[in-house]
Order: sequence, then C-alpha cells, then structure tokens
Amino acid sequence: MSQVISRRELIELGLAGVAAATATSVSASPARASDGAVGFAVVGLGKLSLGQILPAFRTCRNARLAALVSGHRDKALRLAAEHNLSEGAVYSYEEFDRIAHNPEIEAVYIVLPNFMHAEYSVRAFKAGKHVLCEKPMATSVADAEKMIAAARAAERKLMIAYRCHYEPHNLEAMRRVRSGRYGRPRLVVTDMVRQSDPSDPSDAWRLDMAKSGGGALADMGIYGINGARYLVGEEPVEVRAWANTNRSDPRFRTVEDLVAWQFRFPSGAIANGSTSFATGGAMKWDMFCANARLRGDPGCYYSGNRLEIFSHPDQGEVKLPDIDQFAREMDWMADVVRGRAPLVSPGEEGLQDMRLIKAILDSVARGGPAVRTDWGYKRAYDPAAVVPVV
Ligand code: NDP
Repeated sequence: MSQVISRRELIELGLAGVAAATATSVSASPARASDGAVGFAVVGLGKLSLGQILPAFRTCRNARLAALVSGHRDKALRLAAEHNLSEGAVYSYEEFDRIAHNPEIEAVYIVLPNFMHAEYSVRAFKAGKHVLCEKPMATSVADAEKMIAAARAAERKLMIAYRCHYEPHNLEAMRRVRSGRYGRPRLVVTDMVRQSDPSDPSDAWRLDMAKSGGGALADMGIYGINGARYLVGEEPVEVRAWANTNRSDPRFRTVEDLVAWQFRFPSGAIANGSTSFATGGAMKWDMFCANARLRGDPGCYYSGNRLEIFSHPDQGEVKLPDIDQFAREMDWMADVVRGRAPLVSPGEEGLQDMRLIKAILDSVARGGPAVRTDWGYKRAYDPAAVVPVV
C-alpha cells in the first residue's frame, strides 16, 4: 500500500539533483558512517541526546559524531569513550568557541533548553559551522530572526529538527492528501498532550516561560502547529485561541497549561489544535478530507506511529516501517551540507512556528479574538514532494 516518491517523480518536480541525493544517500536503512561523513558536535547531553541522538549516530550513513559539548565533563568523557571519541573532542560551554579550530566538526546539533538555542546557534555560525537546532528553534521571534540572520551572514545552513518531516507515516499521509485521491482537505485536529513533572529537571525548564518560550505549547503543541500546516499544505491566515490554566498549580505560574487554538487556512480548511502539560498523554492527529479521514495515532512518537484511513475504499492501516527518525534527520542535514539535498526544514520554517506560537498566545491573552497570521510565509519545499517516504 505504501507509495514511495520515485526518482522519476522528483525529476518531474524539477529536483533531479535531489533525486540523485535521495536515491544514493538519504535512506532509512541502517549502514555504517562512510568516509566523507559530516562530523557533528552534539551540544547538551540531556534526555534527548542520551536517549535518541547519540544512539542514532550508530545507524547514520552520512553523519558521524565528532564532538560533545556539556557542562558536566565526567558525563561527557564517559560518553566520549563509549563513542570512540578522544578527550580532545569534549568541550565545555565556556570552551565552545574553540570548535572553530576543529575541522572534524562541520555541523553542530543544538539539543539545549530552548532559551539557549539562539546563543549557541549564533556562536556556532561565528565558528563557521552549520547548525541543526532542536525545536522550538528559540523562545522568541526576535531570537529566531537573529539565528536566520547569523546563518546568512556566515553562509552556513540552519536546519530545524522537525523529525516528522522525515517520518514515513507523516510523509505518506502528506503524499496521499496532496495526490487529491481523498478530495479537498477540510479539517485537521491535533492533540499533543502529556503530564509534566516539575521535579524532573528536564520538565523544570519547560515549565518556565523564560526558558521554554511557552510551556506545553512550545514543547508539544508545536507538533500540532507544524503538523496542521504540513498536512493541509497551506499556511494559516488567522488564529483564535483560548487557555485553561490553574494558576494555583505550581507548575503553571508562568506558562499556560491547556491551550486550544483554531487556524483558518486560505482554502477554508480549519485546524483545531490542543496541547496541555496536565493530561494523560497523546501525540495524535486526524485529517478530514472531503472523501476520507486519515488518522495518525500515535502520529508523532519516536517509534510505533500508525497511519489509518477511514470512510474510503482504502480503509485500513497503512503499514510502513518504523525508522530511526533522528538518524534520518541527521543524514538529511549531512546531505544538505554536502549540497546533495534541499533544506526542507530551514530556519524560516521554525520562524513560522515561532510567529504562530506568538499569535496563539496573543489571542489567549486577549480572550480569544482572531489574530491575523497572513504575513506571506511560503515553505520552500513541501516534504511530501522531496523526501522519500522510506
Ligand atoms: P534536558 O533538560 O533533558 O537536557 C538539556 C541539557 O542541556 C541538559 O542535560 C544539560 O546538558 C544542558 N544544559 C545546559 N545548560 C542548561 C541549563 N541552564 N538548564 C538545563 N539544561 C542545561 O532536555 P531535552 O533533552 O529533553 O530537550 C533538549 C531540547 O530538545 C529542547 O529544545 C527540546 O524541545 C528538544 N526536544 C526535541 C524532541 C524531538 O522529538 N525532536 C524531543 C525532546 C526534546 P549537560 O549536562 O550536558 O550540560
């Protein structure tokens, strides 16, 4: 049932170079890093780095781990040894700018709390490196713009780590919607929620507005904001939003808890999104087209995502492989650096979400009026058009 974008289709889209790249180098299949692989410094060794990113290098083809940057030298040295890196490949935050002198490091993967993304991205660009930065790209629109300007000034690439742009179930859903076989996109519903635990250091900064830039909305809701945009294939022209936050809950002194928003798209399609840091967990979406419903539940997990079709002769689960999304994303960045793949998730894509987060919070603060969001952003590449499903 799965449909993989073919080389011929890419050529028809005018992306012959991409076709060559995707055919030869961007793949979900495990293989050893080869000669010429792009060396990455991973900055910030927290939950995501330890649980997902460092292990993912073992299956990367075109990206390899070249350095670690951490505030905890013992931890970094232990991890360096596990990944066959020398002591010289371990940097503290104070020493970070010295990466400029290490030619093994071509790109930096920023996996720090959100409020540190802008500073370390700008420093990485000044050191002459490319940047792959975790989502949300920053805690403010101004910082996001600073990062984009720094990338331009340094003539280096800035990619935001939107792993769902490279995830088979999401890509397949995008491709089917774009094909028109299910009719016009009408409605998308996204729910990205979980419980938060302030005693977990990894949640403590997420519950601090200055450090996260928006609590659950910036952490989880962003998957729904970005997801609605890539599923419908349009940009919202207007948003309305509401919040329900118990300010006597110590977790929600500075951030909103439950936020619900509605996007209106130019075609008339609507997106209903919700996010919370105080409910049972889900990362799911439903996409209603005129003649079918597509469901991703779970839709944005690290693994175990599912795609189902309803109300259409295609009815049933679309079986697709689970891949290491982080390995694929880093391989894609490596191909971008080598000029073999288009920058599908550039800084501008992250900035669009930052501006939408701001518009949502502006509407919340004013009790839910419509806020215009038709500032003319258009994504450079539709992931569905250039990233193979697997
Ligand atoms: P953690 O809190 O677990 O890790 C962040 C790490 O940053 C810390 O362990 C620490 O590493 C370093 N750090 C440096 N300064 C500080 C500071 N002042 N406060 C806290 N940490 C500091 O966060 P996560 O790993 O969960 O998230 C990191 C980033 O990744 C975030 O931007 C998040 O949104 C994103 N993320 C993306 C996901 C995805 O699926 N794409 C999933 C999860 C997170 P050290 O001890 O080495 O200095």
